[in-house]
Amino acid sequence: MAENQLGGQQYMVLPEGASRLLGKEAQRTNIAVGYAVASIVKTTLGPKGMDKMLVSELGDIVITNDGATILEEMNVEHPVAKILVEVAKTQDKEVGDGTTSAVIIAGDLLRNAGNLLDQGIPPAAIIKGYMIAREKALDFAKDVSNSISVNDEDKLERIARISIGSKNIGSDETKKHLTEIAISAIKQVATKEGNKISIDRDLIKLEKKEGGSIEDTELINGVLIDKEMAHSGMPKSIKNASIALLDVALEIEKTETDAKIEITSPDQMQAFLQQEEKMLKDMVEKIIKSKANVVFVQKGIDDVAQHFLAKAGIAAIRRVKKSDIEKLVKATGARMVTSLDDLSKDDLGFAGLVEERKVSGEQMVFVEKCKDPKSVTIFIRGGTKQSADEVERAITDVMGALSSAIEDGKYVTGGGSTEIQVAMKLREMATDIGGREQLAIQAFADSLEVIPKALADSAGMDPIDTLVQLRSKHKPASGKSFGIDVYTNQIADMEKLGVIEPLKVKAQAITSATEATVSILRIDDMISSKGTRPAGGGMPGGMPPGGMGGMED
Ligand code: ADP
Ligand code: MG
Repeated sequence: MAENQLGGQQYMVLPEGASRLLGKEAQRTNIAVGYAVASIVKTTLGPKGMDKMLVSELGDIVITNDGATILEEMNVEHPVAKILVEVAKTQDKEVGDGTTSAVIIAGDLLRNAGNLLDQGIPPAAIIKGYMIAREKALDFAKDVSNSISVNDEDKLERIARISIGSKNIGSDETKKHLTEIAISAIKQVATKEGNKISIDRDLIKLEKKEGGSIEDTELINGVLIDKEMAHSGMPKSIKNASIALLDVALEIEKTETDAKIEITSPDQMQAFLQQEEKMLKDMVEKIIKSKANVVFVQKGIDDVAQHFLAKAGIAAIRRVKKSDIEKLVKATGARMVTSLDDLSKDDLGFAGLVEERKVSGEQMVFVEKCKDPKSVTIFIRGGTKQSADEVERAITDVMGALSSAIEDGKYVTGGGSTEIQVAMKLREMATDIGGREQLAIQAFADSLEVIPKALADSAGMDPIDTLVQLRSKHKPASGKSFGIDVYTNQIADMEKLGVIEPLKVKAQAITSATEATVSILRIDDMISSKGTRPAGGGMPGGMPPGGMGGMED
């Protein structure tokens, strides 16, 4: 249809050098690109998945098996590839784990849609079938889920271990150490309102310094600031610190460039400097009066003020990031003060220890031993930049999995078991729907099974044989939690093995994968103005209404 309406106008509307793909050709290209991108991350799935090494144009190296990171670092150009990168990013942002799964499912949804298009099923029917299937898949997944609470230590530990299990970052001992840190951090910042628990993962600061070893990674009950004390004469270690947080410059406002001060004699100069010094001294006096012995200042501190502070035995850190000040508020209970006149004892916070320490040749300020801090820091170490980076990604995934499980209160079994179960239910339901949508729902079910297939493949099992065995295991209700034990290359009960994952992570993966697929399938016209200037009559304005996304039902 679009061909007829637009063919003749193409040259008038599009800028020179623009290219265009229409209808089936656009869909085929997009599907191929989407599937190709997903195939790249497929081999990284699960504990037996492999890592990818990515080298940037500048020679920076990233070694990871984190789906979101791989796609981001690949710098993909094609718009459809970018949509899949977005899927991974959304997944990361919403739930923190399950990025690879989301992208792989999207890739397979696209591939199966391609097959249906080949059979002459119109895109609108595929889209409709996929949307119904998604809705139902979420219901079925919920049906097989179990409850989990913040007090289920064992289960939380299992969820954390499964999440970190797929990252290649050292021994079981190391992983145990890291998951314990993540669990303590999450519990520390969790807040309860009525029966609802919420976790703001931003309150857990991840501070990373290459050096030491992964095992040196530690939880700090407070905030780690990547700064040094402002002045060498200040105390380096303060026990039972009384902390002031200032959003005030301990400096004299510099005069505007066009305002001149006329100084005509040395006396006047002297008086002027004395005046400045007095003002700075007054500022410091106000801090001394408040009884603070540590101050974090968001702005600058004049040399003279530093001197007076040091003389009074007060430690000060300047130019502290706003985000760090906010965390210090949560960790120490201090109030942020915007005018020195308002500073009083009530505004001060507490930390058992504030200490400047040298880490890998650089000074850092540790604000620790806070009382029940509502913000904590995980200090990540690793022998190389690459290993520290991967530890950061692993911890992010674990924290995402834990907070999803705690907030939502539901978990499902992993190892492909939930996907098999949901696929089976979808196939049963598809026959009731009938019509062309039925085929799309069946295709959706097949696409979910890409997860057990990829897990089997990575473990060196035959994917098809394994799938057939799993499907038959799942026929009776008692078999619903059977999946792939990637360590023994056998089919096993995942609940018994403790291979469990948050329902929310699975549900989000299904949702983002479907949404991305549908938006890609809706495109029947791809206009690229690459290499041309966005001159008048550029592409979006030149499109007739309904040109893009004209396939909605
Ligand atoms: P994602 O980015 O999707 O989280 P992962 O590489 O973390 O990708 O792999 C997650 C998949 O691996 C899930 O399907 C999960 O059930 C599976 N998995 C993790 N640990 C195990 C295990 N010990 N046995 C079987 N499957 C596992
Ligand atoms: Mg994972």
